[in-house]
Amino acid sequence: MHLTLKPGRKIMGRLAKGDDLLLGLEKCAQDLGITLGEVQAIGAVTQARVGYYDQFARKYMFLTFPEPQEILSLVGNISIKDNQPFVHAHLTLADQGGRAFGGHLAEGALVFACEFWIQEYTSGKSLVRHHDEETGLFLWPKD
Ligand code: ZN
Repeated sequence: MHLTLKPGRKIMGRLAKGDDLLLGLEKCAQDLGITLGEVQAIGAVTQARVGYYDQFARKYMFLTFPEPQEILSLVGNISIKDNQPFVHAHLTLADQGGRAFGGHLAEGALVFACEFWIQEYTSGKSLVRHHDEETGLFLWPKD
């Protein structure tokens, strides 16, 4: 399955200190009515929380890192889940020693500073997430 996309609006902005990183990006997409797009960000968090999907248990394990971290890279997409814009993003962080780690961005990562940019796309179709039996995840349709 794939869609052919046309670029729409490009938005750059920042989140406020103390914002939840995932919810802040999602609120921005929802406020702007962006239903299809990509999102990237850099900055820093005062604490981080990421998920790791256990493919055998078919559930997320969540990791909380309570220390300040650099956001080396946040890369994600925006599509529709439960009838509203939904952000799926992965996060690479660095600690004080420059060591990188990360995972699936989960609620609970708190912004110290965050600069983000969103590229909206338009298409004749929308991408809607549904529960996928094969993986247990909420994925885009197969075809
Ligand atoms: Zn993920």
